[in-house]
Amino acid sequence: MRTVILTANLKMHKTAAETAGYASALVRQVADLTGVEIVIAPPFTALDRSHQSLAGGAVKLAAQDVHAESEGPFTGEISVAMLAELGCAYSIVGHSERRGLFGETDARVSEKVSALLAGGLRPIVCVGESLEDRKAGRTQEVVETQLRRSLLGVEPSRVAEVVVAYEPLWAIGTGHSATPEMAQEVHQAIRTHLKRAFGTAANDLRIQYGGSVKPDNAAALMAQPDIDGALVGGASLDPASFASIVRAATTQ
Ligand code: PGA
Repeated sequence: MRTVILTANLKMHKTAAETAGYASALVRQVADLTGVEIVIAPPFTALDRSHQSLAGGAVKLAAQDVHAESEGPFTGEISVAMLAELGCAYSIVGHSERRGLFGETDARVSEKVSALLAGGLRPIVCVGESLEDRKAGRTQEVVETQLRRSLLGVEPSRVAEVVVAYEPLWAIGTGHSATPEMAQEVHQAIRTHLKRAFGTAANDLRIQYGGSVKPDNAAALMAQPDIDGALVGGASLDPASFASIVRAATTQ
């Protein structure tokens, strides 16, 4: 049984003070919901205040990125232990904005995944095809290659701690979500690939869909058998909007 997991990716939005208010509002709005894992990923500067606002409650904290080394001359970077100290349970890795704008490679993602697992945090590993890939019929091939390279070195016994976020690039921030059927097709292919690579443990790994998830399309997406949650950008910035996405997911 996979517990549905919803993550708010705040990207480079909200100061520490704004995020603290956001976290408190969200906690109030989801207080009655059970059987769902709710995670917020604010900017690094807001992690500490968010941790305090979440105060050991049900809503968990994620970073948006991490560095694989434990310490050293890596100006501007943040280690796993630093994130753990601020209460992070998860870190997003390999988001398409990091891949596309900052040159993140699958090899780097794989190092980060290993470092996170070694440090007791769970990675949310993002994969997804471009519009060009999809039009050329390469969606599965691209996604499987990203997964194979990004999860290199993960032991089958740890694979269920990984969350995969399938985020087609053409759906991120565009308002054009994949249809539930399109998303399910890729999620199913991801699960089949992971079962081949890691065995039955992959049945317990959660696969989130991301890309223009909104309160009005969340329920239909979450109703698909291999969609185990969502990674939400734009529609997560308002706590009421994110809470209604979480609510839609819990009724499926
Ligand atoms: P979006 O972003 O919900 O605004 O499309 C999703 C993401 O980038 O994780």
